[in-house]
Amino acid sequence: MSPDPTKRSGSFDTLRKEAEACTRCQLHESRDRVVFGAGDPDADLMFVGEAPGAEEDRTGLPFVGRSGRLLDQLLAEIGITREEVFIANVVKCRPPDNRDPASAEIEACRSYLERQVQLIEPRLVCTLGNFATKLLSGDPTGITKVHGAAKRTELGASQVTLLPLFHPAAALRSPKYAAGLREDFARIPQLLSQGSVR
Ligand code: URA
Repeated sequence: MSPDPTKRSGSFDTLRKEAEACTRCQLHESRDRVVFGAGDPDADLMFVGEAPGAEEDRTGLPFVGRSGRLLDQLLAEIGITREEVFIANVVKCRPPDNRDPASAEIEACRSYLERQVQLIEPRLVCTLGNFATKLLSGDPTGITKVHGAAKRTELGASQVTLLPLFHPAAALRSPKYAAGLREDFARIPQLLSQGSVR
């Protein structure tokens, strides 16, 4: 059963405060801001990226740098705004020098993402890049093999559809990934409107 909306927003605020005070891994020592995630806590569509970068660390908001501008553009092309979705990351704090998040950091942060998914109850979760895709699918197969292949899975206590997508940063580096990302994005409206994602 869906949580009561008032209780949901209360729990969401509690979770945000908990994340903002988090010291579970070493990333808390170098971060400026915790990037909890942003958007509609009642969204049908959720995006999960990798980790905050410099701009995100400065503003406390996810996907506000170059990758974020591409994400906004791709959303606009399918008639969806950032305010209608929820955007989060695998880790909520910036890894120094934009290095990959370490396994221990991903594990330490994992329950925040799981609880976000439980509270938001999205119908469709788009994972952006390898880290989010591998974590949420529980499958180590790389993104180049699995992108665009939607599959049903259980996240925490929720049943959701996962759609693995190339990371926007990869799309900014390579026209081939940009074309693949755009093509996979075009499937989102159909997946959302079809009962098949439930
Ligand atoms: N910004 C984010 O918030 N996450 C990413 O994965 C990349 C850029």
